[in-house]
Amino acid sequence: MLTLHTADLVVPVSSPPIPHGAVVVDGETIVAVGSLEEMGSAHPSAEVTMWEGTLVPGLVNAHTHLQYTSFTEVGAGRHASYVHWSEAFVQEYDLRRGEDWAVTARAGVEQGLRAGVTAYGDVVTDVEAMTALPESGVAGVAYFEIIGVPFDRWEEEVKERVTAILTSTPTSEVFRVGLSPHTPYTVDEPVLIDAADLARRLGVRLHVHLAEVDSEDAYYRTGTGPLVERITMRVGRPWTVVARGGSGMGAAEYARECGLLGSDSHMAHGVYLDREGRDILDRSGTYVALCPRSNLTVGADPPPIADYLRENRRIAVGTDSLGSSQSLDLLEDVSLLAELAAKGGYTEPDLEDRLLHVATMGGAAALGLDHVIGSLEPGKRADFAVFAVGSVAELVNEGGGNCVGTVTAGSLR
Ligand SMILES: [Zn+2]
Repeated sequence: MLTLHTADLVVPVSSPPIPHGAVVVDGETIVAVGSLEEMGSAHPSAEVTMWEGTLVPGLVNAHTHLQYTSFTEVGAGRHASYVHWSEAFVQEYDLRRGEDWAVTARAGVEQGLRAGVTAYGDVVTDVEAMTALPESGVAGVAYFEIIGVPFDRWEEEVKERVTAILTSTPTSEVFRVGLSPHTPYTVDEPVLIDAADLARRLGVRLHVHLAEVDSEDAYYRTGTGPLVERITMRVGRPWTVVARGGSGMGAAEYARECGLLGSDSHMAHGVYLDREGRDILDRSGTYVALCPRSNLTVGADPPPIADYLRENRRIAVGTDSLGSSQSLDLLEDVSLLAELAAKGGYTEPDLEDRLLHVATMGGAAALGLDHVIGSLEPGKRADFAVFAVGSVAELVNEGGGNCVGTVTAGSLR
């Protein structure tokens, strides 16, 4: 049966906004998008749902950890530095060992749905959360995380376990699995290289945190800085790159040399990348999920969004987890990006249109799912959200908290 959703403004993202627009859905799939007048006469038998406000493609949260939805106390305030934050986070994680991570991850999806988010790049530390996305009827990629694994343990047992998880998790056209070596400083170099190789052999996507911390560069380049002490203390010995006095390479170059970049990969943060670093990502086809609220929470700087926009980079947006952010309402991060872009001197009139693109198509492309989600087009999955705002500018600048309805695969949530 056909349903026709009409709203004051329909923004397909892949084509210009349509005042008094309509989206026609057959089951789970969009079959037509146009003006209400055209769509109504072409599909007279469709059941009509009328919305007040602006209808856009479902938002894509390109970097989060849904299983940490219960970590709100750690994510509530600002921390003095990344090391302070990371100590608070690890303490919370230790306290919550044994928590039902499938339940917390699904609770995260529910919060996202209320904010118009219908797809995720979700990092999964505990396997119980691996299927939270399909179980909740949303799209995305679940990236199984490896962190703090020395090469001997990787070879002896972890690699086999990771392979089993990645090959046994049921996937679909809108749900894929991937592998996330946490960062190039929390995973030893030989493991990074072998993990990237494993992901490619299994045909799954890759995802790392990169250039989130200001001292990362010193760590990779010269094997020095505050991260060295922290990691060495936790691991019990300096890791390969530190033991040999650094790689001489900055964050992006080092990640590339370890095999972590590519069009089958996307990374989170990208705060501390200069133009050369951003060029390296670009040439490799790697998307960056910017998470500005999380950066401020962990005591870092905000991402250089004005540069990313001016240089036309491949970018997406993420909330990160509730362990480092105040909500899973993606538009709060989008609004902050708009504010930061203006502060950074990006004054083009296309700012809001571009940021909506980043939060939809950008995220879909970062996850390798832009052929099925990210815009309102015939053949794509009927994932969309309606907000009580009158324009794209209003949506981007003050859309947070204003979602009035979310639809995934044609069903109202
Ligand atoms: Zn993260």
